[in-house]
Amino acid sequence: MHRSIATVSLSGTLRQKLEAVSAAGFDGIELFEADFVNFKGSADELGRIAADLGLSIDLYQPFRDFEAMPEAQFRRSLERAERKFDLMEAMGAPLMLCCSNTSPLAIDEPKLAAAQLHELAERAARRNLRVGFEALAWGRFTSLYGQAWNIVREADHPNLGLILDSFHTLSLKDDPTGIAAIPGDKIFFLQMADAPLLSMDVLQWARHHRSFPGQGDLDVIGFFEQVLRAGYTGPLSLEIFNDVFRETPNRRTAVDAMRSLLYLESEAKRRLAPAVDEPAHAQRVELFGPPAVPALSGLSFIEFAADEASALVLGTLFGQLGFRRIGRHRSKAVVLYRQGEINLIVNAQPDSFARSRFEAHGTSVCALGVRCADPQAAVDRATAMRSQRHDSPVGPDELSVPAIVAPGGNLIHFVAESLGANGLYEADFILEEDASALAADAGLTQIDHVALGLAVDQLDTWVLFTRAVLGLEPGESLELADPFGLIRSRGVANVDRSVRLVLNVSLSQRTRTARTLSVTGGGAVHHIAMRCDDIFESVARLRAAGTRFVPISDNYYDDLATRIDIDPALLARLREAGVLFDRSPAAGDYLHIYTENIEGGLFFELAQRTAGYDAYGALNAPARMASQAQA
Ligand code: MG
Ligand code: MG
Repeated sequence: MHRSIATVSLSGTLRQKLEAVSAAGFDGIELFEADFVNFKGSADELGRIAADLGLSIDLYQPFRDFEAMPEAQFRRSLERAERKFDLMEAMGAPLMLCCSNTSPLAIDEPKLAAAQLHELAERAARRNLRVGFEALAWGRFTSLYGQAWNIVREADHPNLGLILDSFHTLSLKDDPTGIAAIPGDKIFFLQMADAPLLSMDVLQWARHHRSFPGQGDLDVIGFFEQVLRAGYTGPLSLEIFNDVFRETPNRRTAVDAMRSLLYLESEAKRRLAPAVDEPAHAQRVELFGPPAVPALSGLSFIEFAADEASALVLGTLFGQLGFRRIGRHRSKAVVLYRQGEINLIVNAQPDSFARSRFEAHGTSVCALGVRCADPQAAVDRATAMRSQRHDSPVGPDELSVPAIVAPGGNLIHFVAESLGANGLYEADFILEEDASALAADAGLTQIDHVALGLAVDQLDTWVLFTRAVLGLEPGESLELADPFGLIRSRGVANVDRSVRLVLNVSLSQRTRTARTLSVTGGGAVHHIAMRCDDIFESVARLRAAGTRFVPISDNYYDDLATRIDIDPALLARLREAGVLFDRSPAAGDYLHIYTENIEGGLFFELAQRTAGYDAYGALNAPARMASQAQA
């Protein structure tokens, strides 16, 4: 499809916006009038700049408060329109967006709206321009696409059509299935926006909190599917009003924007594909079809960047946590530690990618390994979705592990399942003779989840990245109280829950999460949760080995008994061991505990889940944060 984006969706000057949009591979833009009004240059010059960047100006917007007005205002608006048409001709924009009237002067008379829009279209036709009518969710008398379509149909002018905007329809919970019955060639333009579900005034919601498709909670794929069923073949565009995007570097926003459209197209293509007995709607326009989302089956390793000294510190800490030193890499200053199916790698290799991250950010996680059936297909999917691939040098007898760069710069490696739970490492590491002799296993079996600390402007980027590239679906968005501000937390996981990430954003500059971020630059691992089958046993063994856990207030356990109907014996054990507890209303318990910090603000969590529990004990995070603050 022809892919477009409204200039209001990005930060920067108009020229910077166009450059970012062009670099991200868009075909065109919607010019938001305010961007032009403050542009140092003529409409003519703007048209040339856009053309030089390979961009068409698909739409000029918005033209407000036009239809169903008293005669005097209507005549004045026609004159106003002529001046906009002058600009559109000069810059080469073929279509003007007219949004439904919000003026107190507007008259509740659809036939008058149709007649006046007919006249506007007639004026546009004289210059070979077109007008699209869009229902704003807060329009005075026209707020639904069905009402706007009735007016367009009534106006009956070839240069007048409908403009659809997913936000206006879905925010009002209007049913989009009626769109499929509208003739595709009478839909002149399609604007897509997602949004988180918020209960607030729809105008405020629309102007500040829209997001790219795949970042929010609206059924944007279902909406797009109806537009395709109508036979629409015009531009697919993004119109996103978002306070955070207005300050995010526009190159990143433009990549997210493109990724969101590719995701939207590919998901719609999948949905439209199976109906063999139907006319092939999707075939009317070419939709993006990347390799399928990889079926991930677990987190296979976590790699830490360190220098020689901190590598030793990490080694000691891992030993206390019950990890064995398995071996040293064949060709690199890289050491492998293992417990159960958990592999921790410490990379002290000078001049490595990991090290350059380390020098910038202190001891930190620099890579995650995920298991999947076909690593090459996973990388192909990622690059198709505009992620960068990363090739590490491969020594003799070593396996190449395909990798991509995640937002923020860490690597994600794809490890072939066929190698077995630990297969990769056996091949690449020189195993140490006495590895088994050092065994002090604490019963930690696998990685439960990895929690990331993100800057505020990275959350939407990560939600879309994990969804479109890795096939992880976001869960509920929660707000948690740190003693010094709010933390927004959102889990993302694959279908069988073998890969779970938790995305945390500090809304305050003063929380521990925010301070960790200022050291790491964002996109950093914040804690690693490891699964065990008997948390009391594991905690006892780890305490004996010298691991210290974040102490939990006695008041927490008194309160727990009032919130949850819990067996007194279990409560006593939790209290004695300092273990936190959560129970999901449906089924399943979560028992967990946090270690005190290791280097760089990073810490570990031990977690025991019983069947049915599908979250992360987020309600207990304030107990940890408050305890850490009082330490
Ligand atoms: Mg719109
Ligand atoms: Mg956690």
